[in-house]
Amino acid sequence: MSGEEVCSHVKVVVRVRPLNTKETDGNFKKVVHVVDNHMLIFDPKEEEVMFFRGQRVGNRDVRKRANKDLKFVFDHVFGEDSSQVDVFESTTKGVVDGVLNGYNCTVFAYGATGAGKTHTMLGSSDDPGVMYLTMKELYNRMDLIKEEKVFDMAFSYLEVYNEQIRDLLANSGPLAVREDGAKGVVVQGLTLHQYFTLHQITLTQNYMCQPGFEVWVLSWSCLDCPKSAEHILEALDYGNRNRTQHPTDVNASSSRSHAVFQIYLRQQDKTASLNPNVRVAKMSLIDLAGSERASATNAKGARLREGANINRSLLALGNVINTLADPKSKKTHIPYRDSKLTRLLKDSLGGNCRTVMIANVSPSSYSYEDTHNTLKYANRAKEI
Ligand code: ADP
Ligand code: MG
Repeated sequence: MSGEEVCSHVKVVVRVRPLNTKETDGNFKKVVHVVDNHMLIFDPKEEEVMFFRGQRVGNRDVRKRANKDLKFVFDHVFGEDSSQVDVFESTTKGVVDGVLNGYNCTVFAYGATGAGKTHTMLGSSDDPGVMYLTMKELYNRMDLIKEEKVFDMAFSYLEVYNEQIRDLLANSGPLAVREDGAKGVVVQGLTLHQYFTLHQITLTQNYMCQPGFEVWVLSWSCLDCPKSAEHILEALDYGNRNRTQHPTDVNASSSRSHAVFQIYLRQQDKTASLNPNVRVAKMSLIDLAGSERASATNAKGARLREGANINRSLLALGNVINTLADPKSKKTHIPYRDSKLTRLLKDSLGGNCRTVMIANVSPSSYSYEDTHNTLKYANRAKEI
């Protein structure tokens, strides 16, 4: 396979979360049946899943609408009992190689509010998700080659809300995106946060950080030191609590913003030579806004506009990914400019980039339409 083929591939996986108490207590049934690691059936025929008083309940009941019984195949399907590490190992761990080889890589969590995006990407301190496991993997990998290479690493955390970019790790107004010939896409004024070994801690080295704002100083030489692990999660958790949230009728804690965690990695050969072999790469880990449609939230006015903008970024993202995934498309016009999110990711999707989409769904009939829509979106993103 040529490099181009490897890198433009979009890996699409689905994660089904466990039922929550509302779904278990209510009169809901399961509408997602995980067949194996690659296949699931949405809204399966009832005889396959349900018995009623010892009798099969089938499609014969004419009062009932027919089950859709849709089979979907993905690069991976994670069932309800999959762990954070399972998901990380089969999705993101592979693209860490790409980052170390100098390719920009992107991992998305897509799905309706409550489907498990934040759990997958951020997780909790007891059960950290993809963002943390990625950092840990990068540390381990850098440690293995530290005799040959010098690394420089930093991260940022921003949100795209209502087609505006805001720093989640510092107080900021809307920030502008611009394209820089050498550096790729740059968000002007975004704070970058760096890692130091414990004996190197000095705040002045934390460049681009405006005075007065909290600075995250992490120790990157001692990953097994529990402090650094805690600090990464703390920074992510702090940023996450800064996200713009608006109560809607659907879910009081629904997240209406796209949260973008980016890791910048620069590496250089230690041996002094004329060609120091510098590699720079960026990894973007993204907790997308809820994909439920604005109409479902009974929104009016400002909320409706917000919904339209959220959908604009999700729609644009879908269009970009579909263009990249379609082998028939000439890839001459990829519609990056259609939204803030896709402009921000212009140098991180397509070309030599590797992309993973983790589509999150609930297994319950309570979220029937959302799950159906998410599966359709994810299915379209696959390479045909
Ligand atoms: P989203 O970010 O998509 O709105 P969350 O990640 O906040 O959804 O998940 C909603 C709730 O379900 C949270 O309480 C979360 O802890 C729980 N949850 C989601 N996925 C899982 C999972 N795979 N295992 C256990 N709990 C989960
Ligand atoms: Mg969330």
